[in-house]
Amino acid sequence: MGIIEKMRLDGKAIYVTGAASGIGKCAAMAFAEAGADVAIVDINIEGAEAVAKEIADATGSRTIAIQCDVTSQEQVETMVAKVVETYGKLDACYNNAGIALNVPAEEMTYEQWLKVININLNGVFLCATAAGRVMLKQGYGSIINTASMSGHIVNVPQPQCAYNASKAGVIMLTKSLAIEWAKTGVRVNCISPGYIGTDLIMNAPHLKPLIEQWNAMAPMGRLGKPEELQSVLVYLAGDTSSFTTGSDIVVDGAFTCF
Ligand code: NAP
Repeated sequence: MGIIEKMRLDGKAIYVTGAASGIGKCAAMAFAEAGADVAIVDINIEGAEAVAKEIADATGSRTIAIQCDVTSQEQVETMVAKVVETYGKLDACYNNAGIALNVPAEEMTYEQWLKVININLNGVFLCATAAGRVMLKQGYGSIINTASMSGHIVNVPQPQCAYNASKAGVIMLTKSLAIEWAKTGVRVNCISPGYIGTDLIMNAPHLKPLIEQWNAMAPMGRLGKPEELQSVLVYLAGDTSSFTTGSDIVVDGAFTCF
């Protein structure tokens, strides 16, 4: 079998959080195009249902939509159980749901801080450990988390201390789980995207001046596209990445290189 065939995800069961839009939707489409059955998980159930239908129509994969707030341990446990009940196993998962909040630190309320940390970091902990418990019993599985280049550098000019801290936490949580589970067959990795021009970002008029500044700072002079994350995610989800664990793969057009 050639390398491209080996990279396919036929018969694999994968859930993606934050899959109703943006990077998560694009990742779920990639997993399904590579042959996987995909659970579209989001707090926004109407959006998740629409994406599940779109992906099933486009690829023929078996998709389901599941409503889940990743900050709720009960909802996360129920979501993972539903995926296993539907597909009989959990081969991979992409813990991707996250939010950004631009507030100067001295004005940030504790509630605002907690909201970001709860979704971006605690949500990844809840999902990764719930998925991990299933995968440890199976003896295999690939967990992928979304960190960010903001876990490596302080992006400017927007003030986003909670976001930066949450993403640095995701990188270290990923490495910690990878070490704890290294001998079990369960792998844990994350990706750190640079600025990615999702529909939400590109269509928000108030972000236009920021995008111009980001492009001026970017070595490639542009934002990334969600599609430019697909191949690395398919790689991490599948069997050809069997020696890749504890990695944080930066996909940022060299933004963090200087
Ligand atoms: P997005 O388009 O806003 O997608 C995030 C999705 O997560 C939305 O559908 C959102 O639903 C959902 N969500 C929010 N809170 C949730 C919760 N508590 N439980 C479950 N789902 C929830 O954002 P994106 O740009 O694709 O970002 C996806 C991930 O990539 C995030 O972790 C983000 O930090 C990271 N990232 C993004 C960029 C970028 O430039 N876009 C760069 C680096 C990293 P609602 O819309 O209903 O809130």
